[in-house]
Amino acid sequence: MARIVMKFGGTSMAGIERIRHVAGLVRREVEAGNDVAVVVSAMAGETDRLIQFCREAASLYDPREYDVVVASGEQVTSGLLAITLQGMGLNARSYMGWQLPIRASGHASALIDDIEAEVLERVFAEGGIAVIPGFQGIAADGSLATLGRGGSDTSAVALAAAVNADRCDIYTDVDGVYTTDPRIVPKARKLPIVTYEEMLELAGVGAKVLQTRSVALAMRHRIRLQVLSSFEDRPGTLIVGEDQIEDYGMERQVITGIAHDKNEARVTLTGISDRPGAAAAIFGALAGAGVNYDMIVQSVAKAGEKTEITFTVPASALERCSDVLGKSRPEIGYGELIADTDICKVSIVGVGIRSNPDIAARMFATLAERRIDILAIATSEIKVSVLIPEDYTELAVRVLHTAYGLDTEEQE
Ligand code: ADP
Ligand code: ASP
Ligand code: MG
Repeated sequence: MARIVMKFGGTSMAGIERIRHVAGLVRREVEAGNDVAVVVSAMAGETDRLIQFCREAASLYDPREYDVVVASGEQVTSGLLAITLQGMGLNARSYMGWQLPIRASGHASALIDDIEAEVLERVFAEGGIAVIPGFQGIAADGSLATLGRGGSDTSAVALAAAVNADRCDIYTDVDGVYTTDPRIVPKARKLPIVTYEEMLELAGVGAKVLQTRSVALAMRHRIRLQVLSSFEDRPGTLIVGEDQIEDYGMERQVITGIAHDKNEARVTLTGISDRPGAAAAIFGALAGAGVNYDMIVQSVAKAGEKTEITFTVPASALERCSDVLGKSRPEIGYGELIADTDICKVSIVGVGIRSNPDIAARMFATLAERRIDILAIATSEIKVSVLIPEDYTELAVRVLHTAYGLDTEEQE
């Protein structure tokens, strides 16, 4: 007997027929004698629809009220799955974030502080199935808090840690983690196994198959995490520690995968006087407003001349970023703020980057061959990211995938 957290994403929960199919997968685990807690997402498209309502209501909406609106999608699917399981004669019940409780701090992209296991332990002891809406928790003041886009993955991993689960199975609409998004590159290859570190980087640069925070949490608690399909019964991708990978006899590729992120915006501040403290004023203001920034480029100025600073922020934070920098303009002292959302960040990830400078050079050469302009570059130990014009995204991902020998020959 094992203790399992099963998480089902939006496509898996989109409509009663699919929920019935999900219930069948849950029943299979229960009938195998396992303790099961199920975490569900809202139906596909529902969270986008709810966010759009918030935007229409006010462009700079209150994050606390946003949470009240967007958390509702998961409430619907958790109730529907519990009803469906009950209809199959199973002892299932839904538990909202506040009922466990799942305590969280902040709004709109709240962090989970802790989860009490008591209620779930009781459910397991009574042979029941707990169905929990993903993406939500409760803030200290009792208000609803949501965990950021894709946050149901983090709910599932956090619950797995809280109840000491043997496995956390993330069921989605692809049958595992691929070398790149298989919807963009049909020749992408499924990875049978990937390390927490690599998955963390891949998710961090846009491979939305897992929310980045869920991977960080799984790594910290050494949760046995698995990504698999709700629709096809076949092995998925196992995410394990670097120390475990040899146990699986895997040969390491220099590049594990390629990811892209179109949800970035490029911001340029012109006419900045080149003095100590300019960057501190800009990024201090952004940090104070909770705006994440990335890929900073500063042009070199001749003595006495003005300089420019360019950086990226999530497109969803652009409005807030412009607002904050507008208010801090007197302290920062800049000419113009130019924003561009027609850009994309493309990244290669792999442990081979650590020890081999040729890998990054090959990326730049491959893009140059296709005349793809690089607007900014950022590197870390096992990742290289470039900012390119958005129209070239698919081409860039495809040519890089081929250049690093990641294409599979099986398809096409
Ligand atoms: P869910 O609703 O189940 O949480 P998501 O849409 O959040 O599903 O994540 C699954 C999607 O992630 C896939 O449909 C796929 O298009 C995308 N994706 C991006 N990069 C990858 C990758 N490297 N491997 C697998 N899927 C990926
Ligand atoms: N429904 C939320 C979203 O679309 C959370 C999730 O599905 O993980 O972002
Ligand atoms: Mg997701």
